[in-house]
Amino acid sequence: MSFKHLIDPKYSKNDYFPIDLSVNNPFWDNNDVSDITVFEEYLKNQRDKTGKYVAHGGYLEQRALYRKSIRFQAGIVRDVHMGIDLWAPAGTSVHAFMDGTVHSFANNDDQGNYGPTLILEHDYNGKKLYTLYGHLAIGDMNKWSVGSRFRESEKIATLGKPEENGGYSPHLHFQIMTDMGKYKGDFPGVAAQVELQHYESIILDPNTLIF
Ligand SMILES: [Zn+2]
Repeated sequence: MSFKHLIDPKYSKNDYFPIDLSVNNPFWDNNDVSDITVFEEYLKNQRDKTGKYVAHGGYLEQRALYRKSIRFQAGIVRDVHMGIDLWAPAGTSVHAFMDGTVHSFANNDDQGNYGPTLILEHDYNGKKLYTLYGHLAIGDMNKWSVGSRFRESEKIATLGKPEENGGYSPHLHFQIMTDMGKYKGDFPGVAAQVELQHYESIILDPNTLIF
């Protein structure tokens, strides 16, 4: 499969580089990854160091990010990230993974959540696939309607600002599911270790399908 442009196609595959937000990266022992200023400084340093621009990563990554968040620490600890994140500025265009229709959308607007979220439904070799795009701009939402069609690579949205995207440095959260269950406009993107076996059976590794 060839490289998929999920964000602005002006970025080529060669502009992408992986970053490590996991608990195994000692940098996060002494730096607060949930502080946008700290995170963006880190991002800038990594961009300068690699000479590349679009940071990405996170599939099944156990993240330091969720250590301080009440949202993810209440009850059972959820800290395993199940999608892939692509960091680029607010306003960057977001594009459909493949031909599909709008399954559902919502503004999950509580702190730490996805903000505006779009879910597309696809037919993949006779089976259903669902792609989730999170942390989008509120202004995109009036362009979506359930059942409307998008072609592969068509622009579907733009990246939101921190004040609308759940409070994060602008990035796309992208996740591929084979089963939506009862979810509409939302789907868990972070899981507890004990839930992983369940989710790994319905969430695909996006890396093999994008890069
Ligand atoms: Zn994410």
